[in-house]
Amino acid sequence: KRNNFDNVNNIAKMYIKEVIGEGDVCIDATMGNGYDTVFLAEIVGENGKVYAFDVQEEAIKSTEKKVKKLEFEDRVELILDGHENISNYVKDSIKCAVFNLGYLPRCEHRIITKPDTTIEAIKQSVALLEENGVVCVSIYTGHEGGMEERNAVFDYAANLEQKEYNVFESKFINQKNNPPSIILIEKKKQV
Ligand code: SAM
Repeated sequence: KRNNFDNVNNIAKMYIKEVIGEGDVCIDATMGNGYDTVFLAEIVGENGKVYAFDVQEEAIKSTEKKVKKLEFEDRVELILDGHENISNYVKDSIKCAVFNLGYLPRCEHRIITKPDTTIEAIKQSVALLEENGVVCVSIYTGHEGGMEERNAVFDYAANLEQKEYNVFESKFINQKNNPPSIILIEKKKQV
């Protein structure tokens, strides 16, 4: 059974499934409870690698449990640091980086992603992309600062060179109250 087009998490996963496969290297830039981390780890398999980042210790603990249960320890690296430091940890080129912005539901709502660090992390991820690799950013605007962050991501992405990147936005256009959106940045194959 396929997912419905009813929330950005499901839709982002449909895109990501199209991009990554066995043996790929990926980044989960906003680990949270690790749902995306294990989703990526399952697809890349035992020969792939997922680097996952979060600034909250609880995120690491919660994700570690899922990773252990699925015996994905060898293919997942959990990093307690801001995604603005991605380039200190990831030296390989990557097939995909996933960002799920905002705050962790049911957790500390003051710990949110912020425009400056988000843009820095997206830039570093774009620089690591393999040809046909994708940075996928799910964006929420309902919380304080959310719209400012969305605008920063939009401005950065919209100004990427068309010759080098396909940049695509998808969003709900009939949803009331701050509908979320997704921005995809695909590195074109160089000819
Ligand atoms: N994808 C996650 C999941 O599957 O549960 C949900 C991510 S949640 C919407 C956003 C996460 O970004 C929070 O866990 C928060 O701690 C984290 N975060 C905030 N600032 C960050 C930063 N500078 N670097 C890395 N993670 C950050």
